[in-house]
Amino acid sequence: MYLGRVAETGPGAQVYEQSRHPYTAALLSAAPAADPDAASSRQRIILTGDVPSPINPPSGCRFHPRCPKAQDLCTTAEPSLEAKAGDSSAHLTACHFPVQAGEILARAGRRESP
Ligand code: SF4
Repeated sequence: MYLGRVAETGPGAQVYEQSRHPYTAALLSAAPAADPDAASSRQRIILTGDVPSPINPPSGCRFHPRCPKAQDLCTTAEPSLEAKAGDSSAHLTACHFPVQAGEILARAGRRESP
């Protein structure tokens, strides 16, 4: 959940192993890891900016002011909660540009339209 909207839902193993929503990925990247080797190789996603007011949430995707993958579409269109290509029908994500397997999200930058 982010600002009152479901960002991602599904079987725990699927959500943990391949988080598709950038907010889920950021939350899980901050969780302590029991295995020191796994912890040292895991990317840490640092979110910038403040959490917007839930009384006056941002337009479009509510996460767009803090999302490292946000594009112009995200500022105007609220994403539907749906299964993304390659995911099971039980794994639902509300994101226009879901995280791809192996993507280094911490390095993703905001892209502007030409
Ligand atoms: S819809 Fe856009 S802003 Fe929202 S989580 Fe996805 S990429 Fe980020």
